[in-house]
Amino acid sequence: MSINDRLKRPLEYLRISLTDRCNYRCSYCMPKDIFNTDYKYLKKSELLTFEEILSFIEVLNTFNLKKIRLTGGEPLLRRNIENLIVKIKDLGINQVALTTNGSLLSLDKAKLLKENGLDGVTISLDSLKCSTNKKINPYFNLSKVIDSIYIATDIFGFAKINVVIMNNINSNEIFDIVDRFKNLNVEIRFIEFMDVGETNEWNLDSVYSSERIYNDISKRYLLTKLKDELDSTSTKWQLEDYTAKVGFISSITQPFCRSCNRARLSADGFFYTCLFASHGYNVLETLRKSSSTLELQHDIQNIWSKRIDQYSVLRKTSRYENDRESKIEMSYIGG
Ligand code: SAM
Ligand code: SF4
Ligand code: SF4
Repeated sequence: MSINDRLKRPLEYLRISLTDRCNYRCSYCMPKDIFNTDYKYLKKSELLTFEEILSFIEVLNTFNLKKIRLTGGEPLLRRNIENLIVKIKDLGINQVALTTNGSLLSLDKAKLLKENGLDGVTISLDSLKCSTNKKINPYFNLSKVIDSIYIATDIFGFAKINVVIMNNINSNEIFDIVDRFKNLNVEIRFIEFMDVGETNEWNLDSVYSSERIYNDISKRYLLTKLKDELDSTSTKWQLEDYTAKVGFISSITQPFCRSCNRARLSADGFFYTCLFASHGYNVLETLRKSSSTLELQHDIQNIWSKRIDQYSVLRKTSRYENDRESKIEMSYIGG
């Protein structure tokens, strides 16, 4: 049985944050001055166990879940996630993917993930210059992340690369990135800098729009439009004469709320219906009650059927500012 929200959007895709911790400190996600040793991260004992995650997926799968993405924080900080992946696949989930900063993706780990059923990997990389990376993320290990992109394409045959473009930070490095990866079987996804959470000092001037990125790339490359999946967040193009594709994720300038079929589960078990949410539903509390599965199913159905989230659309029309509550951080809710 599938369920639709108030805007007729089905619940088909769950993004699971496996941890709110990360070994990197990207300025747009976990600025180092805030996410320091005093920051209150979740304790190990607060994290959902793999069994609890699987119980929740089982409930959600009664609504015909099609895809799961493991994310965070840095999901590869969680030990043995291959044991979780193999069990998610056993539940009959068609597609299981991983978004990672690439720092911990060795060849052996990639093989293990693939053997246990992982379908695809997305790796984040914002610049090929040490000086820019230092500004964005002081702990960045460029050679390790580039290696991980080659490993991912070798083992999975294809990889996505997420590149967050920020005006005057890395907006003049778009060619470098396309040039570097154009002969690989990858989709290079340029993401507009988003106002997720409350700590990244986002403002509209710091956004470099997808349209500008597209125009920049078109000066040197011929781009042919590819068909986008109905629920895709990115619009895809083929770089003519090369294997790589490019994609644009335009949450700021061209919001895609209309087709948003995604829900999120935080590492401590809260269910969110929008990336920009302020409140979630406590899955763990219900899971721990006896006879909880039916109650959980009922609650999720109730929450989703009332869902009207379309934050990015409202942001564009400036209708979200009044009495807005604090948004949850990306590293916690799962990017
Ligand atoms: N740590 C993993 C990684 O970096 O790939 C997974 C979690 S991260 C939160 C998921 C994705 O969100 C990354 O590709 C990252 O670049 C993106 N992201 C984080 N903060 C963002 C922001 N403010 N605007 C746009 N994208 C952002
Ligand atoms: Fe860590 Fe990913 Fe956030 Fe960067 S974007 S700080 S790698 S969670
Ligand atoms: Fe979905 Fe919320 Fe993003 Fe809109 S703003 S696409 S509803 S997560």
